[in-house]
Amino acid sequence: MHLVDTHAHLDEDAFSQDVDEVIARAVSSGVTAMLAVATTLESSRATIALAARVPQVFAAVGIHPNYAVQAKPGDWEAIEELAASPKVVAIGETGLDRYWDHTPFDVQLDYFRRQMELAKRRDLPFIVHCREAEPDVVSVLREAAGASQLKGIMHSFCGGRATLDAALELGLHISFAGMLTFKKNIELRELAKSVPLERLLVETDSPYLAPQPHRGKRNEPAFVRHTAECLAEVHGRTLDEMAATTTANAARLFGIPGD
Ligand SMILES: [Zn+2]
Repeated sequence: MHLVDTHAHLDEDAFSQDVDEVIARAVSSGVTAMLAVATTLESSRATIALAARVPQVFAAVGIHPNYAVQAKPGDWEAIEELAASPKVVAIGETGLDRYWDHTPFDVQLDYFRRQMELAKRRDLPFIVHCREAEPDVVSVLREAAGASQLKGIMHSFCGGRATLDAALELGLHISFAGMLTFKKNIELRELAKSVPLERLLVETDSPYLAPQPHRGKRNEPAFVRHTAECLAEVHGRTLDEMAATTTANAARLFGIPGD
């Protein structure tokens, strides 16, 4: 069985003591690739360095909406250059966040648009974070798409029907994280059921929000199998089938090996 964790913050402090053991555990649980997703310029350099060192790790570079307020002059130009580095397979994470509201909303919008444009220029998918900003995210995506389709991911999807339908219509992939496995999230599982198989991805969003049965602990890429198991059940498939499906989708989208 091969699984791809499409979203892990492997450069964060939570992993500074044992990232190699964390990756080894993932690999021995069947996670053959993981995407280290950046949040700042410094973090983008770290995800690239990790990807350069570890064969199973690929990198995303970008500026998270909650950190955009801290970006210094020149950071954006540096991100644009880093996007051309080996093993960079996505741009992000980007998106909009009205929950934390750390960054003025117009600055978030500016960075979201820039990152979608950079992704398009480099023919890479972009990774969307969306928290309490669903109508805004949908309108920015629609505006960016125009009459064409987008190449991107709604990461750790936990939105509503209208957002899901719009994202699918615009060509986006939908990535599910540990929240899918939480007992109370019945509606989210209902929505997951309606996502076409060829648009499904799985992720951990490590070190945050570990899936059942690890809820409350530090999350790590090995745990992606629990989300894949839940998604398999929702779609009436076996874990092996769902692993093969989501891994093939990730391989196609990121241009990485599927085995
Ligand atoms: Zn994230």
